[in-house]
Amino acid sequence: MKNLSFKNGDKLPILGLGTWKSKPGEVSQAVYWAIEAGYRHIDCAAVYQNENEVGEGISKAIAEGLVKREELFVTSKLWNNSHRKEQVLPALQKSLSDLKLDYVDLYLIHWPISFKEGVGFPKEREDFYTYEEVPLRETWLAMQEVKEKGFAKHIGVSNFNQEKLTELLELEGQKPEMNQVEMQPYLPQRALAQFCRENGILLTAYSPLGSPDSRAEKHANDPKLLEDPVVKEIANKHKVGEGQLLIAWSIAREIAVIPKSVNKERIIGNLAAAKITLDDHDMMELRDIGISHRFIDGSFFTGENSPYELSDLFD
Ligand code: NDP
Repeated sequence: MKNLSFKNGDKLPILGLGTWKSKPGEVSQAVYWAIEAGYRHIDCAAVYQNENEVGEGISKAIAEGLVKREELFVTSKLWNNSHRKEQVLPALQKSLSDLKLDYVDLYLIHWPISFKEGVGFPKEREDFYTYEEVPLRETWLAMQEVKEKGFAKHIGVSNFNQEKLTELLELEGQKPEMNQVEMQPYLPQRALAQFCRENGILLTAYSPLGSPDSRAEKHANDPKLLEDPVVKEIANKHKVGEGQLLIAWSIAREIAVIPKSVNKERIIGNLAAAKITLDDHDMMELRDIGISHRFIDGSFFTGENSPYELSDLFD
């Protein structure tokens, strides 16, 4: 398995298991199957409300000798309701306790958006803090502290655009080491990827398959990435599944990728995508796919009941 490297030489396995929407009753088994199959990178978050069960899967795999803790790369994310400086360490400690770990390998600010304490998902304007009330730099300083204390080996962000990244890059101290964003052939994020590379920030692609299990009714008319004719044609050429092809596309771009699955066959098949080699012609065809679409559109945090605009999230 290919790795990406952090500046201190630590390695990030380029392919990991996503866990958003993985039900608590399913995710322990999914994580265990993944580790058994050879995954060494698990993507988690407090807001997925399943870190306790993810932790059970990890603990079982370690207890049975399938893997050692230091061979695993575990990511968690700070939810939007814990951005004030005194909230960051307790939020991470809660994740660590659920995951049954002493440290995470990577801790990310999940979104550049701040909610008041206790608000899971905001309903009204009063549920939010503004950037004046809780500036991103306050949260970033606290992120640096959790790294210095050893609770996170690496720190970074998620859903940050160039403007928000620049805000953090201009601060003294540790720079963000990772930006986790949606990336798939309908949203290749070329400019953001270039910016991150120039600034020494690694990238992880989320929703690489188009997040088919998060499509609510209002998205019924969204394009279906896994059914795209170009994706199908190249997958057929390589005699692989469409999902595998989409995972291989990220790996070919040297971008970490974290497909979610709770299905044993797909968990194993997705890992095998790391062995697919795409040629220049395949990459050109995917580049010219002709559809531009963002599946995770940020509309749940923006709009008339929010102080935030879509331009706070996306370039
Ligand atoms: P994905 O694009 O990974 O799609 C997951 C869906 O695809 C599930 O329905 C899964 O079903 C199905 N699936 C898995 N493998 C295949 C395959 N080979 N062929 C066809 N279907 C397949 O969606 P996510 O939005 O979950 O993104 C992946 C991960 O990225 C998340 O789980 C999370 O960890 C992270 N993420 C981070 C975000 C952030 O804000 N930082 C936002 C969104 C996601 P089944 O389980 O039944 O196999």
